[in-house]
Amino acid sequence: MTTTTTPSTHRATVAIGDEQTARRVADLLTENFFEGGAAISAFEGPQGRWDITVHFADAPDQGAVRDLVGLAAGEEIGQAIQFDTVEAKDWVATALEGLVPVHAGRFVVHGRHDRARVAPNRLRIEIEAALAFGTGHHGTTRGCLLLLDMVLKGASPRRVLDLGTGTGVLAIAAARALRRKVLASDIDPSSTRVAAENARLNGMGGLVETIKASGFSAPAFTRRGPFDLVLANILANPLRRMATPMVRHLAPGALVILSGLLPAQAAAVIADYRARGLILRRHIQLEGWSSLLMGKVG
Ligand code: SAM
Repeated sequence: MTTTTTPSTHRATVAIGDEQTARRVADLLTENFFEGGAAISAFEGPQGRWDITVHFADAPDQGAVRDLVGLAAGEEIGQAIQFDTVEAKDWVATALEGLVPVHAGRFVVHGRHDRARVAPNRLRIEIEAALAFGTGHHGTTRGCLLLLDMVLKGASPRRVLDLGTGTGVLAIAAARALRRKVLASDIDPSSTRVAAENARLNGMGGLVETIKASGFSAPAFTRRGPFDLVLANILANPLRRMATPMVRHLAPGALVILSGLLPAQAAAVIADYRARGLILRRHIQLEGWSSLLMGKVG
């Protein structure tokens, strides 16, 4: 396994209580530290109490973190956060030890420590994440995996793109299920490195090609397209901005899975893609996040 060792990292820990609140806090933190600046884990302790640990790459603004957590869980919990610095160690692996496998349709996303426990008839994705988004625990990743599972029951897309790949979780899932090449891109070079490592770890190194690119700004998209399936778990505004280039890179009848948007933002995203010839096929909401399946007519 590849490990990520840092000289020191900044940690915040807090006891939350119930699972729903812990997930709300984790979602809000993830939303605000989206670009790979933190690894956030919510986990259930032996007494059934949910705790949250966040490892920040850089020293965080403690007041801002307290305010955010306070918004989701109440001021008292925000004020109870403990901040400290963790000495050199593989803290990512430590953070992942607390994570339980995530099931989404036929897919299971799990850490190395759960490798032996995954049923052999599942499509497994082992994630030893570093500072990249996508352990499968977030509602947006699970939403994408569920929609991917649905899509693959009725279609076998040939050219697949995972835009905003993070840990590579969706690209690996698609490559494993389809046994076909998948292009995985991210604006963040550390994410593409992590995604490539995770693809290798999952035996998908030969199928997942990773590239660093913002949106569709690389020749590889034209070379590897037009795509029959695009997975894009980013955020509402970038998804809206890239509607035109995305549609330009789609094959007739292509399917697109869009996530990273709040339910209140879904109508605007749907309208942008509908105006470019796509129709909404499915809209699922998980843990306060919307994931859309849209299809190009023709
Ligand atoms: N695909 C993974 C998943 O579903 O768990 C990660 C999704 S994470 C929410 C969004 C990812 O998109 C991040 O890794 C971020 O660096 C990347 N990203 C954000 N804006 C982007 C852009 N304009 N072009 C490409 N990648 C982008």
